[in-house]
Amino acid sequence: MKKGPDRIKCSIEKPANSLFGSKQPPAITIVGAGLAGSEAAWQAVKRGVKVRLFEMRPKKPTPAHRSGDFAELVCSNSFRSTALENAVGLLKEEMRRLGSLIISCADETKVPAGGALAVDRTLFARSVTEKLAGHPLVEIVRREVNDIPDDDMVILATGPLTADAMLEAVRRFTGNEYLYFYDAVAPIVTAESINMERVFRYSRYGKGNGAYLNCPFTRDEYDLFWEALVKADKAPKKEFEREMHFEGCMPVETLAARGRDTLRYGPLKPVGLTNPRTGKGSYAIVQLRQENNEGSLFNLVGFQTSLRWSEQQRVFRLIPGLENAEFVRYGVMHRNTYINSPVLLQPTYQSKSRPNLFFAGQITGVEGYVESASSGLVAGINAARAVQGKEPVIFPAGTAHGALVHYITTADPAHFQPMNINFGLFPPPGVKFRDRMERCRIISDSALKLIDSIADL
Ligand SMILES: Cc1cc2nc3c(=O)[nH]c(=O)nc-3n(C[C@H](O)[C@H](O)[C@H](O)COP(=O)(O)OP(=O)(O)OC[C@H]3O[C@@H](n4cnc5c(N)ncnc54)[C@H](O)[C@@H]3O)c2cc1C
Repeated sequence: MKKGPDRIKCSIEKPANSLFGSKQPPAITIVGAGLAGSEAAWQAVKRGVKVRLFEMRPKKPTPAHRSGDFAELVCSNSFRSTALENAVGLLKEEMRRLGSLIISCADETKVPAGGALAVDRTLFARSVTEKLAGHPLVEIVRREVNDIPDDDMVILATGPLTADAMLEAVRRFTGNEYLYFYDAVAPIVTAESINMERVFRYSRYGKGNGAYLNCPFTRDEYDLFWEALVKADKAPKKEFEREMHFEGCMPVETLAARGRDTLRYGPLKPVGLTNPRTGKGSYAIVQLRQENNEGSLFNLVGFQTSLRWSEQQRVFRLIPGLENAEFVRYGVMHRNTYINSPVLLQPTYQSKSRPNLFFAGQITGVEGYVESASSGLVAGINAARAVQGKEPVIFPAGTAHGALVHYITTADPAHFQPMNINFGLFPPPGVKFRDRMERCRIISDSALKLIDSIADL
């Protein structure tokens, strides 16, 4: 296990706690008992560190939660695939081996769902709540917290629907330019699934060093694509998302619906993009921009979308070069609060400028139930270690936990967007593999060995 260079200094003897002035403050203050905050609390108390856990529900609801239970699943009841050849299956297995509360409660309350881990959402949230409420080292406070506590050790896990006053506090802490309010995410595909014989690498007018992959359309291909796009099925919006405005960030299907040529004068503009193979221009072009340092992932520039995921796969595979594209992240447009983690966080989910403050969950830019809980697990372990004067633990990039936090803290800050776990985030395995499945298996085997070697940390 790689260890961080700096030992975190912290004191638990400071006499008064700014929130309540009690004489013996708990060692860690956690705000938000969702997927991330609940997992972080569990990891801390498992290590013998006391936790004070703040949750504003049910007194103050969010627009999506329905109960006062912790770790409520606001939409789907699925934690996605269980297969180890799937990155989210691996992430769950790592969490299981690291003693995750969220995964053990999910296993305990699971319902039949084929290759996925799905749960009875009521029993699941109740189980998480009871386990934390029944733990002698957990103190639960049902109250909205309006500012980032200045306690000795804090984990902020207030989620994508962080209450307004806290949102302002986070904005003051991060600076305006590093806090975002919604996801307008374009789909991301793996580099290895792009047909490199059809696309070409080139920057507009030859400027830059060929940073983009370009997917050139003929007129017939464009017509087919445009028709499919304007007729495709959109995902229904939640009530509280209906009044959102997306200046300069229009869904691609909305632009397309304005007219047959609108996209050709917008994100699919072909000017300045001569195909070096033919020496000619194209009727329209979709540009793909590199998503991570390793060049294993590309996003579809200008393709923020509200289409259903199955429709995105069907329609966007009509783009030349993406016939067999593997989508590791679909486009979404929904309310989401997240910070620019590559600028702000260390690979422990700790603030760079205030090391006794951790962020966890969707607010860090991880995307999804499992990913949120996994970041809570890493933050909880490290906050507990900090309290105990131990060195922080940085998960190796060859594990799903490490690959995710590596992306979150090293992605290009100028284009940072929330991310699901996927195998494109892992370093390539150092051995030969026959096909994609074998590659995934090799990565999973190696990741689980690494996790087993550190599971007792
Ligand atoms: C509408 C919606 C639907 C989603 N659907 C899915 C899905 O189907 N599948 C999926 O994998 N992911 C989904 N996500 C994304 C994400 O996985 C979930 O939002 C997940 O719950 C995030 O976990 P979290 O711990 O970061 O936040 P949450 O689980 O939301 O927990 C944050 C907690 O903090 C509390 N809180 C907020 N502000 C304060 C405050 N100031 N003081 C005290 N408490 C506070 C909240 O009440 C909440 O309990 C969805 C997100 C949204 C917004």
